[in-house]
Amino acid sequence: MIRQFELVERLKAYDPNADEDPLNRAYVFSMKAHGSQLRASGDPYFSHPLEVASLLVNLHLDCYSIITALLHDTVEDTSANLEEIQDLFGPEIANLVDGVTKISRLEEQSETTHQAENFRKLVLAMSTDIRVILVKLADRLHNMRTLHFIPSPERRRRIARETMDIYVPLSERLGIHSFKDELEDLAFAQLNPEARESVISRLKFLHETTENPVEEITKELEKALSAAKIVAHVSGREKTPYSIWTKMQTKNIAFEQLSDIMAFRIAVKKVEQCYRVLGIIHRRYSVVPGRFRDFISTPKPNMYQSIHTTVIGPLNHRIEIQIRTYEMHRTAEFGVAAHWQYKQEIHDGRKYPWLRDLLDIMEQTSGAEEFLADTKLEMFRDQVFCFTPKGDIISLPRGATPIDFAYAVHSAVGDHTVNVKINGRQMPLGTTLQNGDQVEIITSETQSPSPRWLRFTITGKARARIRRFERTQKREEFMKLGQSMSLGNPVSVKGMIDGVAIHFAGCCHPLPGDVITGIQTKDESVMIHTQDCESLSHFPDSEHVVEVTWEDVTLPVQHAGRLKITFLNRPGSLASLSSAISKQRANIANIRVTNRTVDFWDVLIDIEVKDVEHLKSVIASIRALPIINSVERV
Ligand code: MN
Repeated sequence: MIRQFELVERLKAYDPNADEDPLNRAYVFSMKAHGSQLRASGDPYFSHPLEVASLLVNLHLDCYSIITALLHDTVEDTSANLEEIQDLFGPEIANLVDGVTKISRLEEQSETTHQAENFRKLVLAMSTDIRVILVKLADRLHNMRTLHFIPSPERRRRIARETMDIYVPLSERLGIHSFKDELEDLAFAQLNPEARESVISRLKFLHETTENPVEEITKELEKALSAAKIVAHVSGREKTPYSIWTKMQTKNIAFEQLSDIMAFRIAVKKVEQCYRVLGIIHRRYSVVPGRFRDFISTPKPNMYQSIHTTVIGPLNHRIEIQIRTYEMHRTAEFGVAAHWQYKQEIHDGRKYPWLRDLLDIMEQTSGAEEFLADTKLEMFRDQVFCFTPKGDIISLPRGATPIDFAYAVHSAVGDHTVNVKINGRQMPLGTTLQNGDQVEIITSETQSPSPRWLRFTITGKARARIRRFERTQKREEFMKLGQSMSLGNPVSVKGMIDGVAIHFAGCCHPLPGDVITGIQTKDESVMIHTQDCESLSHFPDSEHVVEVTWEDVTLPVQHAGRLKITFLNRPGSLASLSSAISKQRANIANIRVTNRTVDFWDVLIDIEVKDVEHLKSVIASIRALPIINSVERV
């Protein structure tokens, strides 16, 4: 267990201006708060936050991160609360501790969800400060190191699975390979111990039966470089069992060669020297084709830089060589943490918001788009992630409400929403959802969508459903009206048997002149649709279909056509619209504004016309108006 003064000394070694007073107070606070609590290992609980702090000191993180590490479990696991922490350590620390606590609480939920990708995004979305993720990663690394003390095999597996699905990719995205490799190997040991054992015993066998040429190859490479007067550090390293195993799986081969399990690294001071080293290696040894990659000129999205090449090297061994500068090496090990420290030094202790620094760096890195898309926390600022009672994650745009949530789950759920419980409490349907909310929608078969909902729904899916429902309702009303009007003035349709009642479908509003099709209904009446009406697909077999045509399109009966019009919001717009319609001797039966913005209005207008030709000429004259954006028949 690292001692208090050691922690301070190690922090001060890379950050001489760090204020040690709050660090000392956090140490004592955490130790007292955890008191006599024990870990599964039997160690005092306090050893855990201390180890987490120590891992972050290795990454050279700032004093705030180290203090957060010391305090990270106090709110969740002891009687301490956030107000207390804010009073004692200020708002910045309180914020960071709160962030870590929230993610820890989410982990309980993750047990029931299998949507790792969404869960990763949720973790990012909830971490308004990237230090929260770094503390969380170190927390997870120490928990994985001590995982074998947990007695329940199911729980061990659950934690290992979560580590593999969520925290390994997160550390990869952030470029922290030192964390990533270890997390991955610890999770692998739990999830597939047989596979890992088989790799390890195979490695052992190789070591025993073949002479270990690593040292000799290293010496040969060093000699070649010093002959060219390049000062470099050469090292050979065995790949992790997990990466060997995945390679064996994807390539479907057993490993036999050294190149399958070893990687050599050459580290130099300057970028130019990387390319000189490459020239020397390629001149001296035969290059294995197709294996050369230059991640210096094109860094990986997580900022990783190196040159990779494979050659038939010393002693005729096929070997992979990575060439990089010392600084690139730090980035490869510590990822964003390395860059952050570098920036801090430039600003000489001046405090910069961590995230902005990170984004600055990434914006200057070529090929950063993908990295930004994956890890830029801002990206998830416009999304919220909420849970269903079963633990599925629903992703919604920021500002979404329970109605949006309900429609995202299923349109039938949305249509029948009556009430909502958020985190177990009944809340208004217009409540804005927050990250991590558990949302339970209460439905009733008798409920139907309300136009009122449009005021607080923001997703396209919900709004379209509500509007569609509203339209069908209006149409039904309208058709009832139309039918009662036409009773005294019957429209005859060719092909109809006398005495059979006819109705005009509410879905397509057939007008005289439209090509129409009749459908026999259960009560022996006939429903008239336009031939292109979508609802005809429900009647694929011809036995219900009745062939019908309009008998006389010049009947002086007025029929209603519905138009959806979008026009510029200018003084007099509505007046010029209505005068264009009346100039065509058509009559406006109903007008409804469906959407208005500063610039545009959307209206639905029901127009009484003689027939479809009449409607076409009305549409044409409306289109001719300069204020019109679009006109379509609904
Ligand atoms: Mn912890």
